[in-house]
Amino acid sequence: MVPREFITQVIDAVDGDEVVKLTAELVKINSVWDPEAGTCEQPAADHVLRWAEAQGFDTQMDEVAPGRSNVIVTYAAGPGERTLMFEGHTDVVTPGEISAWKYDPFGAEIVNGRMYGRGTNDTKGNLAAMLIAMAVLKRTGIPLAGSIVAGVLCDEEDQMLGVQDFIRRGHADTVTGAIICEPQDGMICTSQKGAIRARFTVTGRMSHGAMPLAGLNTAPAVACLIEGLQALEATAAETTGRDAHLGWPSFTPTVIQAPPTGAPQLNVMPSEAVLLVDIRTIPAQLHETIRTQLTALAADTGQRIQKHYEALNRRLGIDRNPRLGVSVEFLTDRTCTRTDPDDPVVKAADRATRAVWDIEPVYGGVPGATDGTFLWALKNIPIVTMGAGDREVPHQVDEWVDVGQLIDTARIYALSALNYLFPGAAE
Ligand SMILES: [Zn+2]
Repeated sequence: MVPREFITQVIDAVDGDEVVKLTAELVKINSVWDPEAGTCEQPAADHVLRWAEAQGFDTQMDEVAPGRSNVIVTYAAGPGERTLMFEGHTDVVTPGEISAWKYDPFGAEIVNGRMYGRGTNDTKGNLAAMLIAMAVLKRTGIPLAGSIVAGVLCDEEDQMLGVQDFIRRGHADTVTGAIICEPQDGMICTSQKGAIRARFTVTGRMSHGAMPLAGLNTAPAVACLIEGLQALEATAAETTGRDAHLGWPSFTPTVIQAPPTGAPQLNVMPSEAVLLVDIRTIPAQLHETIRTQLTALAADTGQRIQKHYEALNRRLGIDRNPRLGVSVEFLTDRTCTRTDPDDPVVKAADRATRAVWDIEPVYGGVPGATDGTFLWALKNIPIVTMGAGDREVPHQVDEWVDVGQLIDTARIYALSALNYLFPGAAE
């Protein structure tokens, strides 16, 4: 156990003004990945690099793609087997229509204890908090057994190229536990939903809307697919039940396009329709089973609609090829993550939360994927996701973070690292 005096020393060493200042500096840098507008993560990465160098950390800048870099900040505190990773991303999503904002999305304005701006919540505030936590531990000089590495990564909001590059270059090889710094409102999240995204393509034959018998309409197959997805969702909910932290599994058709490209016209029956489905899974489901179900749904739909057209042909006495194509293609397959609640990284976070807030920590799950998904899936790294910020606020207008909660989060991060790396903690 960490002596009380060290805990107090670390809590006191976190300077709230420093957390606010670094957060504001990062928020004021527009790091939306938008090649047309000419904005990218690079200026935010440069700022973190300069800051970390000034703190005396070992640093490395890795270019992931032009204008998109990861910054790796290392504090090799002392000899030891453990390396704790803090992960935070530099990219933010677009502010959208600026006139819809009451506050400047890149202003970092503080009003009534809340800082407003894009990224205050997701996740520049938490990024600043994790960096300050590292700096505080370094300044106090408390002996630690092991290292802390900060992965300040690009492209979390889209393809997660940053974390994949981080792993590819071997930075994750020595990491034994990771804290994913994302807005979870002070909760300790030990699980994340998985995702399967798929595209169904239905191929029929084009015709004039006034002469539908001259073609083969794709619409009945799309309806059949949607019904099938609803049935799969109901069965999944029945068989798995509700996950205590992650809620219900879902099979959500999100996009229906017919024709998939070009302008639709009311009097044209398009030859092709596309249906996109966004499936979110809980650990009780097997992705392999879901993929098999979706493949079967495509095949069954093809057969059912063919029978429908065969019957129609017979009834109307027409000779027409009744066969339409229904196929499914998998776009994304990201596994659920579930870290053992007894893992040392979870225990470290638990004790840190108790020390700062004097509460029984609240445990939860993350509804979406994060960079942590890759660390867990590709490198078997135990992860916890935690940080300041209301969970509903990311990606909204007038995004905000509670400044007090953010400063406490820096303390929780610092104490988590202290607990995890304190000499003797690994024994
Ligand atoms: Zn985020």
